[in-house]
Amino acid sequence: MKRIIIIGGGIAGLGAAYKVTRAASEGHEVEFTLIERDHRLGGKIQTEIVPDPEEKGNFVVDGGPDCFLTEKPACHRIAKLSGVFDAELPTDDSRRKTWILSKGKLHQMPDGVMMFAPTKFVPFATTGLFSWPGKIRMGMDLLIPRKKIVPGELNDETLENFVVRRMGRECLDRLAEPLVGGVHASDPAKMSLAATFPRLLEMEQTYGSLLKAFIAIRRKVEEMRRKYPTKPGEKPRTFFTSFVGGMQHLTDRMAEVAGRERMHTGLSVSSLKSASRGGWRAALSNGSSIDGDAVIIATESWAAEPLIRPLDPDIADALANIPCSSSATISIAFNEKEVGFDLNAFGVLCPLIEDRALMAATYSSTKWPGRAPAGRVLLRGFVGGPHNQEILKRSDEELVQIVLGEFRDILGLNPFAAPLFTRVFRWHLGMPQYTLGHLGRVELIENRSTNIPGLALAGGSYRGVGLPNCIESGERAVSKILGEWSIQLAEDKIEEKRYY
Ligand SMILES: Cc1cc2nc3c(=O)[nH]c(=O)nc-3n(C[C@H](O)[C@H](O)[C@H](O)COP(=O)(O)OP(=O)(O)OC[C@H]3O[C@@H](n4cnc5c(N)ncnc54)[C@H](O)[C@@H]3O)c2cc1C
Repeated sequence: MKRIIIIGGGIAGLGAAYKVTRAASEGHEVEFTLIERDHRLGGKIQTEIVPDPEEKGNFVVDGGPDCFLTEKPACHRIAKLSGVFDAELPTDDSRRKTWILSKGKLHQMPDGVMMFAPTKFVPFATTGLFSWPGKIRMGMDLLIPRKKIVPGELNDETLENFVVRRMGRECLDRLAEPLVGGVHASDPAKMSLAATFPRLLEMEQTYGSLLKAFIAIRRKVEEMRRKYPTKPGEKPRTFFTSFVGGMQHLTDRMAEVAGRERMHTGLSVSSLKSASRGGWRAALSNGSSIDGDAVIIATESWAAEPLIRPLDPDIADALANIPCSSSATISIAFNEKEVGFDLNAFGVLCPLIEDRALMAATYSSTKWPGRAPAGRVLLRGFVGGPHNQEILKRSDEELVQIVLGEFRDILGLNPFAAPLFTRVFRWHLGMPQYTLGHLGRVELIENRSTNIPGLALAGGSYRGVGLPNCIESGERAVSKILGEWSIQLAEDKIEEKRYY
């Protein structure tokens, strides 16, 4: 029996563990032991079920990610395999609307905006979000020639450079930065386009214009929706998906089906070395050690770096060069009657140029049915990111007061609305930044670890921060190791099936 040590019990480590269990169920002689530093599994995925103070039901509070992108298949596939597909939860699109703060006032995001490109003329022409010179500059995307590509090179640039080049500064400041930079909690002036949105580079080359490209995509999506309408009883296909019990429903289930008895929490791996008889020895924080035939490091890049340094300093240097930023989410519950503003929206984005402490707010109980009992409201504020690391020095109580103040100023929250409860979740160095040169660093990490038998890295620090990407990275790490043992799983021969 060959044993794989998995370090880290976030969704990437759990994705790896579940894949090892599936290999074992196909008759291969493999098993895993997972070590997780925290006292719980799930990593950044953390859901708290909070009972209503007056026993009206429960709130479902997601502290980290609250959804995944529906079009990426890995979460659906794992949900289906592990028996929780029916618990998937689409957004309530009857109340879909996003506000963007501009010069202190809220403007509705124009209908038809895809990423940061307007695809419908009338809503774009009539929005007060952009000035007329700004709108004309965005329209010039139709005329600006495509960038000259140097064959065989990455042709990378920053997100800021790309958006300003094609659509102008106002589009960056008012739309792209809060939408795209905000989702990645990253600085567009440093973000690598090739690492985060490679499709945008392709779209420019194919269509010669982003507007033309996004209009073509919107028409295609509309055509597909007409051709394949949602059948009666079927869940609607929304852009984002969550789970009825919150995102942790998925990781809890993954731990269950992979085998919780093989997972040890509250223990960290303090060092790693290759054992004299081949294989690996991991020293643990309680003074003991475990041996394995292979090891998967599914931690944050900064936590992987000291483990790898004695094995390969070049990989460690590349890991050390992946910057990470900290952030916090602050969830606050209210009585619906007290809030005093229109709750028919998914949330608010606050562009950096507005200089607010709040980066974004989600109206969680509007976006996701069942997040709060009837007559109650759950709101979530997001603070931190690369431009405001200072705010994370504040105490939890201070963060709550800051966010309440922002909700009053920006959302129009009634100053007398009394919170029913508050929850603060801090994510120290929780968001890797895919800065220029990221793909080069990842290639170096992957190429050099290919030469170290029985070692693989996984997680959101490398090829995608999204939850489906993280699952796939954990699975790829297992495939690398099983491949070295000449084991190929039946599922590896099947192409990814689309569930939506
Ligand atoms: C606030 C926030 C909101 C987000 N929202 C979304 C969203 O809505 N949708 C989306 O798709 N993505 C979202 N993301 C990104 C996504 O959550 C992450 O990319 C993903 O959860 C990372 O998973 P992971 O398994 O790679 O790492 P993690 O979840 O960070 O897991 C790594 C684990 O390794 C453990 N560990 C570290 N060192 C050791 C050691 N030495 N020994 C043992 N264990 C160790 C850690 O304790 C941790 O649990 C969000 C991220 C944040 C921070």
